[in-house]
Amino acid sequence: MTTNDTLATPTLDTYDGLLAAITPSAGETREVLDPATGAVVGLAPVHTVDDLEAAITAATLAQPAWAALGHEARSAVMVRAADAIDAASEALAQLLSREQGKPLNGPNARFEVGGASAWLRTAAATPLDSEVLIDDGTTHAAITYRPIGVVGAIGPWNWPMMISIWQIAPALRMGNAVVVKPSEYTPLSVLALVAVLNQVLPEGLVTVVSGGRAIGAGLAVHPGIGKVMFTGSTATGKAIIKSSADTVKRLTLELGGNDAGIVLPDADPEAIAEGLFWGAFINTGQTCAALKRLYVHDDIYDAVCDALTAVAAKMPMGVGTDESNVLGPLQNKAQFDIVAGLVQSAKDSGARVLIGGNPDLAAPGFFYPTTLIADIDDDNPLVREEQFGPALPIMRYTDLEDVIARANSVDVGLGGSVWSSDLVAARAVAARLDTGTVWINAHGAVHPMIPFGGSKQSGYGLEFGVEGLKALGVPQVING
Ligand code: NAD
Repeated sequence: MTTNDTLATPTLDTYDGLLAAITPSAGETREVLDPATGAVVGLAPVHTVDDLEAAITAATLAQPAWAALGHEARSAVMVRAADAIDAASEALAQLLSREQGKPLNGPNARFEVGGASAWLRTAAATPLDSEVLIDDGTTHAAITYRPIGVVGAIGPWNWPMMISIWQIAPALRMGNAVVVKPSEYTPLSVLALVAVLNQVLPEGLVTVVSGGRAIGAGLAVHPGIGKVMFTGSTATGKAIIKSSADTVKRLTLELGGNDAGIVLPDADPEAIAEGLFWGAFINTGQTCAALKRLYVHDDIYDAVCDALTAVAAKMPMGVGTDESNVLGPLQNKAQFDIVAGLVQSAKDSGARVLIGGNPDLAAPGFFYPTTLIADIDDDNPLVREEQFGPALPIMRYTDLEDVIARANSVDVGLGGSVWSSDLVAARAVAARLDTGTVWINAHGAVHPMIPFGGSKQSGYGLEFGVEGLKALGVPQVING
C-alpha cells in the first residue's frame, strides 16, 4: 500500500518503458497489430479463466482496506493516479495511437489520454454527502451509498483508455475494487493505463484480465462480482443481462447507438458544418454517440451538403503517429467490412456519393475514406444499422412531425442533436427525441459532471457526475 507515500518517480513515461512494463515475461501471448500499417505493436497476454479467478481473489482481498480509507483518502490517491497519467501521457498516447489507429492529434489519442486524467480527477473531486430525505421532528431518514465490492469493467475497442477510466474511476471513488476486461482488439492500451495507475494504487485493487469473450462471460457470471460496468454492442449487452441474472448483478449498460441529427431550416450551413463533421467523424466515426443519421430540411439541404463536403475534403486521414493527420483507419478488418458493406448497399440503391465511398483495397491498413451519402432512403441499411465508421447518410425532410418520427424510429436511443439558430425552437424539438442526451448545435460532447446514458436498447444506468458515482454504490436508507 502506497497511499501515504509521495508519488514514486514514474518509470512508465517513455514509450519503450511503457511497452516493456506490459510485455509478458511468461505465459501465452499474441501479437497485436497496428491497424494502419500491419506492424506488430506489442505482445498481449492471453489470460485464462484461472487468471480471472486470481484477479477476483486479489480484488476481494484488497477491497475492504480501500473502502475503509473513506472518501477523502481515496480521492487523494486518485488524484495522484491522475498525476501519474499526466506524467506518462505522451507514452500512453503513442501506444493508443499505434494500437487503436487514432491519430495523435485532433480529438483523438492525446485528447483521450487527457480525458482519462480529467475524468479521474473529477470523480475524485465530486462531493457525495449523505442526503437527509426527511427530518420533520417525528421521522428522520437519510440515504447514503455503500461500496458494492468487486466491480467488473468490460470495454470496447474504440476509446479503450477513456472508457476504462469511466468505469474504473467512479468504482474506486465509491470504495470498490475493479477487474478490467478490455476488448481483445485493444488490450495493450488498457494494460498500459492500468500499469500507470498501479504505480500509485494498492496492489490487487485494479487488475486487467486480457482475453476474449470467454473472459467477459466469466466476469458476468461470477458470484464474486457485484456489478458489471459494460460498454459495447447491444448484442453483447443482452448476453450480459442473461449471464448476470443468476447472481442478480447490478449493471450499467452503455450500448450501441444510431444517433440522428436534425437540421432546422433556420440553421446557417456554413456555421454548423464543422460541428456536424466532428459530430459524425470523431474517432473516424468509431464512437458510440456519434452522429450517424443526418436529417436536413429541404430549404437548406444542398447548402448543408456542400458545406459538409468542403469540410470533409480538407481533413487529412492517415497513419496516426503522423502529426498532420486527424482521421485514422478503422480499428479492425471486421469493422472495415461492415462499413464497406453498408456504403455499398447505399450505392447499390442509387444514393448519391458526395465524397468518398471508394476505398483503396490494395493499400496497407484498414483505411476507409471519409464518405458522405446524399438522397438515401431511411430503409437503407446504411441508415437503419450502426455503421460505426466514417460514412454519414444525409436525408431530406420537409415536415417537422415527420422528421421527429423518423429520428425516433430506431430501437436504440443513445444521443441526438438539433441544429438551429433559435435555441427555444431547438430545445422544443430536443424534448421530443427519445434519447439519453440531445445536444443543440453540437453532437457527442461529453463532460465529466454531466450524466450520460442511453434510452431504449442503448442501455440503462448513468455514468459521470454525482449520478455516476451513485451507480457504483449500494444505496442504503437509515430510517430513524
Ligand atoms: P462488443 O460488444 O463486441 O465487445 C465489447 C466487449 O465485450 C469486449 O471486451 C468483448 O470481449 C466483450 N464480450 C463479448 N462477448 C461477451 C460476453 N458474452 N460476455 C461478456 N463480455 C463479452 O463491442 P465492440 O465491437 O468492442 O464495441 C463497439 C460497440 O460498442 C458499438 O455498438 C458502440 O456503439 C458501442 N459503444 C457504446 C458506448 C456507450 O457509451 N453507449 C461507448 C462505446 C462503444
